[in-house]
Amino acid sequence: MLDLIIVGAGTAGLSAAIYATRAGLSTLVIERAMYGGQITVSPEVDNYPGIPHTSGAELAQGMYQQAEDLGAQFAFETVESVEEEGGLYTVRTDAGTHTAPALILATGAQNRPLGLAEEQRFTGRGVSYCATCDGMFFKGRPVAVVGGGNTALEDAEVLAGICSTVYLVHRRDQFRGEHAQVERLRTHANVEFVLDSVVTALEGEDKLQAAVVENRKTGEVRRLEVDGLFVAVGQIPQNQPFAHLAETDAQGYLKAGEDCRTSRPGLFAAGDGRTKTVRQLVTAAADGAVAALGAAEYLRSR
Ligand SMILES: Cc1cc2nc3c(=O)[nH]c(=O)nc-3n(C[C@H](O)[C@H](O)[C@H](O)COP(=O)(O)OP(=O)(O)OC[C@H]3O[C@@H](n4cnc5c(N)ncnc54)[C@H](O)[C@@H]3O)c2cc1C
Repeated sequence: MLDLIIVGAGTAGLSAAIYATRAGLSTLVIERAMYGGQITVSPEVDNYPGIPHTSGAELAQGMYQQAEDLGAQFAFETVESVEEEGGLYTVRTDAGTHTAPALILATGAQNRPLGLAEEQRFTGRGVSYCATCDGMFFKGRPVAVVGGGNTALEDAEVLAGICSTVYLVHRRDQFRGEHAQVERLRTHANVEFVLDSVVTALEGEDKLQAAVVENRKTGEVRRLEVDGLFVAVGQIPQNQPFAHLAETDAQGYLKAGEDCRTSRPGLFAAGDGRTKTVRQLVTAAADGAVAALGAAEYLRSR
């Protein structure tokens, strides 16, 4: 009989598996794709403490190996639904059913893409979804940020301190983000607002060299010569199969505080899929540890 099921083998799920097995819990990790989660597509990771330079794939491989060596079991299946009855969680996948008295949801989030033809090809080669992660790779070079919410405004602010020029491309002439932040951005000489405009194409050979933008009101087409394009048009938490189990916020993130406990006993949320302000590897790994130790304590106290 399993003690714990973890859904998702990204950073949060693998960290949870390491802590849970070390706490003596019989643990199954269910993952629908390759282990490692979002970070596996990133060729450069320079902000994980203690590892000055690595790739996402290498980092994921290390975490997976560590969890497996400690005795975590893995099932590469897609979780389709979860039900809880009498304190037992039944997890149905495309391959079968698993049950355990405690469950950690670590299914992360996906960045909303712009939907451009070349977007995937340039991801990691100029196109990024995280200014905090990748901004330094574009030091002294021109970049563009796409979006009109707080994330886009914050990204533009961060990049203004690093990059030579920051074009802030937004499809409307008003921002959804904070007015004060917009006003602060206007004080940066190297930030140019490109409003009422959408990116229609990405150009480059091996790496991004330009973003083509079109003004939706005038039809004017402009080619922005940029080395980096930061897409900040929102994230989609991957919580659809579990949303009925616990409270979520308006965007669909599972509501849980720093203790990773959801509104349902025995159900924990860890990593990018829970309500939080900083979605990074280090915070996902921290959540995994907290959720696993929380699950161990929950099982002891039952
Ligand atoms: C391109 C890119 C670069 C980044 N660079 C950095 C960086 O340099 N530094 C940094 O700190 N952060 C970086 N990040 C952010 C970082 O990757 C995330 O914060 C982190 O991956 C979150 O981990 P997680 O485990 O919560 O979620 P995820 O990594 O999203 O993992 C969730 C896992 O759950 C699985 N899953 C989802 N639904 C199901 C289901 N129904 N059934 C089974 N499995 C399921 C998914 O397949 C996935 O493997 C980057 C993100 C991206 C996209």
